[in-house]
Amino acid sequence: MIIVCNKLCTDEDIDFIQKKAVEYGYEPRLIRGVERTIIACIGDEIEHPNLMSLVSLKCIDSVMPIQKRYKLASREFHATDSEYEFSGAKLGNKHFLTIAGPCSVESIEQMHAVSKDLVAAGIKVMRGGVYKPRTSPYDFQGMGDEGLEILQEMKNTYGFAIATEVLGEEQIEKAAKVADILQIGARNCQNYHLLKKVSHAGRAVLLKRGMATTVEEWLLAAEYLLVNGCEEVILCERGIRTYEKTTRFTLDVAAIAAAKKETHLPVIVDPSHPAGQLDFVMPLAKAGIAAGADGMIIETHPKPSEACSDAAQQIPSNEFKDFLKDLQPLIELMVKE
Ligand code: PEP
Ligand code: MN
Repeated sequence: MIIVCNKLCTDEDIDFIQKKAVEYGYEPRLIRGVERTIIACIGDEIEHPNLMSLVSLKCIDSVMPIQKRYKLASREFHATDSEYEFSGAKLGNKHFLTIAGPCSVESIEQMHAVSKDLVAAGIKVMRGGVYKPRTSPYDFQGMGDEGLEILQEMKNTYGFAIATEVLGEEQIEKAAKVADILQIGARNCQNYHLLKKVSHAGRAVLLKRGMATTVEEWLLAAEYLLVNGCEEVILCERGIRTYEKTTRFTLDVAAIAAAKKETHLPVIVDPSHPAGQLDFVMPLAKAGIAAGADGMIIETHPKPSEACSDAAQQIPSNEFKDFLKDLQPLIELMVKE
């Protein structure tokens, strides 16, 4: 921590600040300049963050942290890219993974139909929501526990690893019996109680970025998962809220590059939710991949016109193989770098 004192700062104040620094576990070093005095405090800021409160003293202009507030998620802690494996498919460290499936699990027929198309497209990890976070309480809320049984059947029949969202604490244990990856949706990115609970499930966690969450807050949310025992955290950029109405959300491609720079955790792109409509899914997927995403999660449905949620953005699943084929050259180019 660097403490910058102002002109009001007396020798007694400096003495007091240094004593406080020692009390909080830091080793203070005094630097007297012509205009200002600076007190550099050496110590682990994550273990001893309390010095920030000194900024309330009139004789102090600012207290500046030096260390990143996320430790386990940072590249300082783990320099090389983390790599995970789901159902034989690798993610991270130059392994690109596509997770695909419908927005919501709706029926056994729908899931068999989409599964066959996913197998044909070479997909190993299936997504499908059973507990749905809908903006309106009158909209389809997901099949719930019955949907989990359908996901289990898809897992048994087609060998997929499963990714599904949990909205609340009571859903975690049930979902973890079926799912390899538990999704924390955008609306719960900063629900710290839920993050702590889901960390103990013994499953990978896919953490969507909240629609008003900064990159630092997103990484700190990942830190909550890591420090509470989750061993595999996947970050997912899914668009943020801006004034733009043409798309559903604004895909923040810079956040993908920024997160990749800061963290060893895999960062994937969700091109479906920011697009909000089919036409934009391909360009946003390309943008995310070009920005350095390690993978993507994408919505596809056997009959989008009959979908109970997110109908406009879902790729017809019989076209999904070709969709991926068109992206393949870009994926290969990026993975080679
Ligand atoms: C979803 O994946 O279907 C979903 C609801 O995502 P998000 O949390 O990004 O809105
Ligand atoms: Mn959706």
